[in-house]
Parts: sequence; C-alpha cells; structure tokens
Amino acid sequence: MSVLLFFVDGVGLGRPDPECNPLFRAHVRRLRLAEGRPVPDPAAILVPTDACLGVPGLPQSATGQTSILAGVNAPAQVGQHVSGHCTPSLAALLDGRSLFHRVRTAGGRATFANAYTPHYLKNPPRFLSVTTVATAGAGLRFRTLDDLARGDAVFHDYTNRLLLARGYHAPPVTPSEAGARLAAIVQSHTFTMYEHFLTDLAGHAQDMSSAVEVLENLEAFLDALLEHLDLSKSLVVFTSDHGNLEDLSVRTHTRNAVPTLLWGAGAANVAAGIRDLSDVAPAILRHLGMVY
Ligand SMILES: [Zn+2]
Repeated sequence: MSVLLFFVDGVGLGRPDPECNPLFRAHVRRLRLAEGRPVPDPAAILVPTDACLGVPGLPQSATGQTSILAGVNAPAQVGQHVSGHCTPSLAALLDGRSLFHRVRTAGGRATFANAYTPHYLKNPPRFLSVTTVATAGAGLRFRTLDDLARGDAVFHDYTNRLLLARGYHAPPVTPSEAGARLAAIVQSHTFTMYEHFLTDLAGHAQDMSSAVEVLENLEAFLDALLEHLDLSKSLVVFTSDHGNLEDLSVRTHTRNAVPTLLWGAGAANVAAGIRDLSDVAPAILRHLGMVY
C-alpha cells in the first residue's frame, strides 16, 4: 500500500469563468474544477476542502502546509495565518507530528520526492519551507541532483527547466517522463510527498498565459503519473494550501475552498474523512493502518 501527497500551492475552487480562472481557460480535463461543479474526471473523488480553518484573514502557505502535514489547525494554534516560511512555532507543531515522522515511526518508508540543489543543501537559507523542516525533522534524506540525474527524484518544476535556467546541468524531462519517475518513487515507498508551487507564483503574477501553461503541463504530469501507478495499491491525494490561481482578478490568495482530489486505493474512505486541511494527515494515516 502506498500514498502520494501531491501538494500544489495556491489552487482553489473558484467560479467557472475563463476571463479570470485559468482552470477554465487552459486545455485541461482533470483540473477543470470549480465550486459546485461536478468533478470532470470520473475516476477522481473531489472534496472541497476548507483552508480558512475558522481564522480571520486570508489563508497563507506556512500555516496551510503545517495543517496538512501535521494534521493540526495551525493558524488557530499560532493565532493567525502565516505566509511563506516555517516559523519556530510552526516547527514546534511539526515536531514529532508530521506525516513523514508518523509514517517512519510506524515502520513505513517515507520520502520527499523533490530534489534539492547542492547550493541549497550546502548553504541552507535562514528561512526554510515547512516541507523542508518536516523532512529534516523526520530524519529523512534530501534528494539531490545526483538522484535527479538517475531519474530517482523530481525537481519542483518537474521538467528541470528552472534548474537549467540557473546554470545546473540537469537533463530536461518531459511532464510525462516526470510522471513516470514520480510513480516509481511512490511505488517503492509507503508515503511520498511531492510539492509544486509554480501555481501560486502564476496566481500572484496574475499572468493568464503562464497560468495556462503551468496547468497544461501539470495535467500532463498527472496523466502520466496516474497511468504508471497501480491504483489498486496506490492512493493519490492531490491538495492545496489556499486559493489563488483560480481568480486572477486579484493578486492575493482567496478564501475559496481548495480541491482535494483523490484517485486509487481507498479513495472513497479517505475522502469521507476530509473537511478541512487539518483532516488530510489523519485520513492518510488511518488508511495506512497507522494510529493517529
Ligand atoms: Zn502565495
């Protein structure tokens, strides 16, 4: 049994308006998602998932990601939505509680599929992402560009285009090759996380053409991933931390629900346990037979 948490930053369920919602402008099928509309992919289950968590203000990345990974209402615990990077109080919430840590201590194999650059690993920035803190806190190895070159990792943009632009020698990968590589990692682990954030950047930039390109590539990546997984054994949980991309009429995040999409083994049971971001981790752990 294996689970992939496919995390995409800044994608909510908005209005089906192609003028402001790139999910209705891009040539996509699985990702053509809006509030109150039926899910277009008959193989998927969609759970509109509350990202506001009862805390005033706009939902933000660091608290949203901590809520997903640690199964806690992070903005309520720290008193506000926190953007960007992991703060000491969020690190305390992740400590001993992250999905990585819980799967590992229950005897499962957990991994973060994204590759890190040597520059990042040698000179880590002062402010780290929530996923980086959770990965390190669980004692997991960070995947490197050597892993990436062997096809045993994915870069966050999964085509390596941004790595090449930064001067690294990384072989370019098509979205469909990347999907096959991620599937292989998923099938050799109990729990895998992959993180993508170009969606949030395109949302903040209010850039329709870049948002359309990001979504069309993302769908090709997802298509290949799902094609290469044995969905009688694997479960894919696609979710986000807050809305943004689905409404390019505003530069900020939105208060829209986010789409949690589930494919594969146990999807209906896991979906039934999810209402807000803090439900994702407990639902995954119950599915894996790990006590929460
Ligand atoms: Zn953002």
